[in-house]
Amino acid sequence: MTSSFSNLSLAEPLARAVAEMGYESMTPIQAQAIPVVLTGQDVMGAAQTGTGKTAAFSLPLLQRLLKHESSSTSPARHPVRALVLLPTRELADQVAQQIALYAKYTKLRSTVVFGGMDMKPQTIELKKGVEVLVATPGRLLDHIEAKNAVLNQVEYVVLDEADRMLDIGFLPDLQRILSYLPKQRTTLLFSATFSPEIKRLAGSYLQNPITIEVARPNETASTVEQRFYSATDDDKRRAIHQVLKTRGIKQAFIFVNSKLGCARLARSLEREGLKTAALHGDKSQDERLKALEAFKSGEVDLLVCTDVAARGLDIKDVPAVFNFDVPFNAEDYVHRIGRTGRAGASGLAVTLVSGSDARLVADIEKLLKTKLDIEALEYDEDRPKGRINDGRRAWREAGETGDPRDGIPPPTLRERSERRGPREPRESYRGFRPAVAPRDPFFEKPYEASSATAAPAWEAAAKSPTRSSVSANIKPKRKVAALFKAVQPETSDQ
Ligand code: AMP
Repeated sequence: MTSSFSNLSLAEPLARAVAEMGYESMTPIQAQAIPVVLTGQDVMGAAQTGTGKTAAFSLPLLQRLLKHESSSTSPARHPVRALVLLPTRELADQVAQQIALYAKYTKLRSTVVFGGMDMKPQTIELKKGVEVLVATPGRLLDHIEAKNAVLNQVEYVVLDEADRMLDIGFLPDLQRILSYLPKQRTTLLFSATFSPEIKRLAGSYLQNPITIEVARPNETASTVEQRFYSATDDDKRRAIHQVLKTRGIKQAFIFVNSKLGCARLARSLEREGLKTAALHGDKSQDERLKALEAFKSGEVDLLVCTDVAARGLDIKDVPAVFNFDVPFNAEDYVHRIGRTGRAGASGLAVTLVSGSDARLVADIEKLLKTKLDIEALEYDEDRPKGRINDGRRAWREAGETGDPRDGIPPPTLRERSERRGPREPRESYRGFRPAVAPRDPFFEKPYEASSATAAPAWEAAAKSPTRSSVSANIKPKRKVAALFKAVQPETSDQ
C-alpha cells in the first residue's frame, strides 16, 4: 500500500522538505503510521531500518511540534519536546541527520548526543535549547546527570530499534530515562520483532498503543535478489571480484563474522586494488564515522563490516551486500541483506558458502521457510591458484608449515627478511632512498577486469599510479599477541 504525501496535509515547510528529498509516495510504514502519530496516539510499530520508518515517526512528530516554533534565541523557549532513543551511535547520527533535513524549513531545532565523542560540543548545543533530541541511552544519562538535558517538557518519546536496545542491555538505562519524562506523553516504539521482552516493555510504557506491522519480522524484501555461491575460503575474495565485475557493481557492503576477519579482509581487498574500509567495534567513533562518510561520498567502494558495527546503517541504494561469512545467526542474514534493495530500489545479496557452512545455511532456510539453491560461480579466467589465497603462498615461500588460517598471520616482509639475514644492498638502494612503504609482491599484481565489461570507477582508481597501495582507512596490522587474543568469534563489538 503506498500513497502520496499530499494526502497528509503536511504543513508547507515539511511538505517542501519532503519534496526536496525526492520521495514520490509513502512507504507502507509511513502510510500507516503517519496518520496515527498525527492523532497523538501511542504506536507499536514492527518495521526494520530501510522501510522508511524514520520519516514515519519524525514527520508527524515535527508537524505536531510546529505549534512550539519560536524564533527567540532564549534557550528557555526551546525546551526538549521530543526525545528519540536509538541503540548505536551510527544510527543516532543518521536519524538525526534525517530529522534535520525534514525540519530544515521550520524553526524547530534538533541535535544528537552519543558516546565516544567529547561531551563539550554536545553540551553547548543542548544549552542553546533544542526541541528534538536524538540520543543513545548511555550518553543521554551522562547529560541528564550533568544537568545539560532537562526532560520535563517532553511530549513525545520514540524508542527506535527497541529490540536492539534490549539486546545491548540498555533496559535499565531506558527505565531510568523514562522515569524522568512526564507521564502525559506520546510513546512510539519501533522494533524489528515483537519478542516477549518487547511486549513487556510496551506493556509498561505505552498506553493503548496502535499496532502497526508492515513486514513480518523475518521477511526479506522482495526487491533483493539472493544468490548463494559455493566458494572455498581460498576463493572467496576471487568470488567478490568476479561478482563485482560481471554485475558492474560499484559499491557494496561485505559482512564478516569477526572483527579480526573484518580488518584482514579489508586490508587484502585494498591490496588487490579495491577502495575498501573496515567498520568494526575496535574502530574509534571518529574512524567509523569517517569510514561511513567515505563510503557515502564514493571515496570508498567496499565497506567490510561486522554485524554489530553495521547495525542500523542508513545508506541508500547500496547495490549489493556480500556475506563473506555466512552469519552465525540466521536473523542476522535478514538484517544484513536488508541493507540493499531498500525503499523500492533493487539489490543483490550474495552469500559465499564454504563446505563447513551447511548448518548455518540450513538455519537460514528454516527461518526463510525456503530451500536455497547453492550455485557454482563461474570465473572468467584461470588465475594462478595462489594469488588470492589468504597469504598461504607467501607463508609457504617463507618456509612456514601449517596453515595461516589457524589464527597465526603470515610473517611480515620484515620478519621474513630478518630470518633471511642481511643482504647486500642493491645498487639503486645506495645513497638516498625515498621512503617506500613495505609492500608484499604477492599482492602487487592489480586486478584485471574483463574487457567485455565497462570498467567501474573502482578499477580505474585501483590502476592509478598516484594512489597509495593502502588507504588511510586501513589500520596497520596488529601485533601477533593481539591477534591471538582476538581470534575467538565475536558476539558483540560495541
Ligand atoms: P529508514 O527506514 O527510515 O532508515 O529509511 C531508509 C531510507 O529510505 C532513507 O534513506 C530515507 O531517506 C529513504 N526514504 C524514506 N522514506 C522514503 C520514501 N517515501 N520514498 C523514498 N525513499 C524514502
